[in-house]
Amino acid sequence: MKGIYLDHASAMPVDPRVLAFASKHLNNPGNPSSLYSEGLEAKRAIEDARGKIAELVNAEREHCIIFTGGATESNNLAIKGTALRNMGKGKEVVTSAIEHMSVLNPMKDLQKSGFKLTVVPVDSTGMLDLEKLDDSLTKNTTVTSIMYANNEIGTIEPIREMSEIVHEKGLYLHVDATAAEGRIPIDVQNGGIDLLTLSSNDLYGPQGAGAIYIKPGVKIQPILPGGGQERGLRSGTENLFAIAGMGEAARIAKDEMGEESVRLVRMRDELIKDILEIEESYLTGHPTKRLPHHASFHFDRIEGESILLNMDSMYGIQVATGSACSSKTLEPSHVLLAVGLKHEEAHGSMVITLGRSNNLEQVPRIVKGVKETVERLRKLSPL
Ligand code: PMP
Repeated sequence: MKGIYLDHASAMPVDPRVLAFASKHLNNPGNPSSLYSEGLEAKRAIEDARGKIAELVNAEREHCIIFTGGATESNNLAIKGTALRNMGKGKEVVTSAIEHMSVLNPMKDLQKSGFKLTVVPVDSTGMLDLEKLDDSLTKNTTVTSIMYANNEIGTIEPIREMSEIVHEKGLYLHVDATAAEGRIPIDVQNGGIDLLTLSSNDLYGPQGAGAIYIKPGVKIQPILPGGGQERGLRSGTENLFAIAGMGEAARIAKDEMGEESVRLVRMRDELIKDILEIEESYLTGHPTKRLPHHASFHFDRIEGESILLNMDSMYGIQVATGSACSSKTLEPSHVLLAVGLKHEEAHGSMVITLGRSNNLEQVPRIVKGVKETVERLRKLSPL
């Protein structure tokens, strides 16, 4: 029987339309910086992708988009690049307790080199505490980084309100939109976003490309100096295949997002309703302000890793647990601890993230798999 893939927050299949589009560029030997025709063709493909990504997020101009090697690099560039470039104004940085490690770790690096780091808490649904955000900002804060939506619990943050608080004090807001892009509309101008992280694979594009939106006038410095590509902000020969694919993936996402999210919300809500019938099962994240494709839970008295392995081996269904991108760590998820779960509760988590290959007909098979898995594991559990 064909498997059911339910871990789109960790990795996504490349859309066949994206693959067909990007493959046209695989055999072009031209470097986008070269002036002969192959180089110019490569350059055109990159500028075409830049335009499509600018449209996806309503950037003021195409050149507000800078290509990188992925979301981790974009987050590092946004945080370190802004903090270091603006050090003259102050040495304070602010983030939330539920950010991805690719935000938290560069923040901690800055802390080690003398910056003051403030981590703003969230409530039990994962919503940022706006009053504490306000209290954390001072005239010395150079960058505030808060995610658009969380990849582990699906909660969508109040971006507009956050940006008003940050801008009232004349400061910069960076937003990691990796979990939200292509799922819900993102408008950097209307949302008041200064820097935005995007990833190709989270749009069904190839791995190995990402982007950062930088609002006109925002000053950052490169963290990867070299040959001066991408307006000098990200040196290195561009990954033509992945960037062309990312652009096409952004175009498709923009076109199809409305219909796709209605379809996935129906499936998500069916799954949540049926899975919560299991005794001692709980939804994590916000009950309504959550991503359309995201259903996340914790179950008492079992381990998330065992759920993941059982669902895969017995039912051919792939789910995630804890930190979706790094299930190899056995530490409880910092996100689940931040929303107030105890260590043993955080260990029993299961994350389902839906995608284009999923449909309503799969719901009974998934629910049966989860119910039987939880029952089986609880019988074996010493807890
Ligand atoms: N931010 C968020 C919210 C993520 O979920 C991820 C992982 N998909 C990343 C950043 C880092 O992405 P990557 O590992 O592709 O660089």
